[in-house]
Amino acid sequence: MPSSSCELRLERERLPLYYLAVDMLLQALITRCCITLVGTVQKNLGPPPPASSEAVSHSMKSNRGKNTSPELILRSALYRNGVRGYRLHAKGVPGRPDILFLRSRLAVFVNGCFWHRCPRCDLPLPKAHREFWRKKFELNIERDARKRLALESDGWKVVIIWECEIRDDMVGCVKRVTRALRGQ
Ligand SMILES: [Zn+2]
Repeated sequence: MPSSSCELRLERERLPLYYLAVDMLLQALITRCCITLVGTVQKNLGPPPPASSEAVSHSMKSNRGKNTSPELILRSALYRNGVRGYRLHAKGVPGRPDILFLRSRLAVFVNGCFWHRCPRCDLPLPKAHREFWRKKFELNIERDARKRLALESDGWKVVIIWECEIRDDMVGCVKRVTRALRGQ
């Protein structure tokens, strides 16, 4: 309890800051809950059905999870261009970005065109089990958007690099990262 009127006034002046801090905490909590919820719904969808063709099987296998090959190719190009000092799949950061530059507050995601539904490639839905894939991809897109929102509202810059960009224009990919690092 404040012991004098001066302390009481100071307590009152601090109040809006407390509210702001509580508000920020609540927002972060809600965003995290939403990401977890989408993850749970995805798990309930079950594992993907087996690929119905060789082409779909190839798309499914490419670029799943951590240290996928497009990510390794990008990292090695960044290394050759002197871009170092990043963290990989850092825990405690929304969405665990593939490549994270702490000091520049830059998060880079390397997205597979099939799983994350690249707008450049605009790949058709697999012909078999269409309803499963439609739901699965909707959830993936929703989760990606929430990750981005959580990061940006926390002051991070976000760069999304598509698997096809790495294949078609590596110089451009490196440029996008270095420009973002310079704050451009
Ligand atoms: Zn693509």
